Amino acid sequence: MRKKLVAGNWKMNTTRAEATALAAAVAKGVGTDDRVGVAVCPPFPWLTAVGDALTGSAVALGAQDVHYEKKGAFTGEVSPAMLAECGCTYAIIGHSERRHILGEADSAINHKVHTALEEGLHAILCMGETLAERERGLQERVFQRQVYAACAGLTDEQFGRLVIAYEPVWAIGTGKVATPEQAQEAHAFVRGKLRALYGDKIADATPILYGGSVTGENARDLLKQPDVDGALVGGASLKPDSFLAIVAAARG
Ligand code: PEP
Repeated sequence: MRKKLVAGNWKMNTTRAEATALAAAVAKGVGTDDRVGVAVCPPFPWLTAVGDALTGSAVALGAQDVHYEKKGAFTGEVSPAMLAECGCTYAIIGHSERRHILGEADSAINHKVHTALEEGLHAILCMGETLAERERGLQERVFQRQVYAACAGLTDEQFGRLVIAYEPVWAIGTGKVATPEQAQEAHAFVRGKLRALYGDKIADATPILYGGSVTGENARDLLKQPDVDGALVGGASLKPDSFLAIVAAARG
């Protein structure tokens, strides 16, 4: 059985004091209960302070992005080894804000997934269709292209550290959550693609999270779906109570 994961993406929010207070509250709420995986992904400058605040809890630390090269002349970028040294076990890759605002391409995302996994991180690979793509009925073509491109060349061992997050772009930060049926349909399609491309073992083991306006109120119905293995949470991860309510929903 796949273990559920709830990951908070704090985006470019929080001061250092807010970040450490939020992390401490999440750590206190989760304690050492690891029935569900929990991770928080603060901005880069707060990683070590947040890592310190999580000490002794079951909450993991993640980054919101990672560079695709291991080191060198890449001004402003952060390598997977640097993230690991800051205490990260997860890195979000290919978030829609990076794909659509910063122009990140499928090829760069594939490169990032490879480098992150080679360096021992767990990659949370984001994918999902825009509203225009859904309105034209193109979502399954988009899923197929994104999964195929991002996962190309991964070994079975690397798949063991891959998490996929289905995040319809129209649901991110909009309050327009996908219905549980829409989420299940998308997740089942993605899992079917993994099965066709990489076989039963990888398809059955890869966690697929849902992301897009998840709250403590709507999480339970989404997380009840057989192919929804957790949540990637933006806005609601900035308040301990709402994030912990989603963790509680994931515990069932
Ligand atoms: C996200 O940015 O990954 C996200 C899911 O945001 P929100 O929960 O705010 O829609």
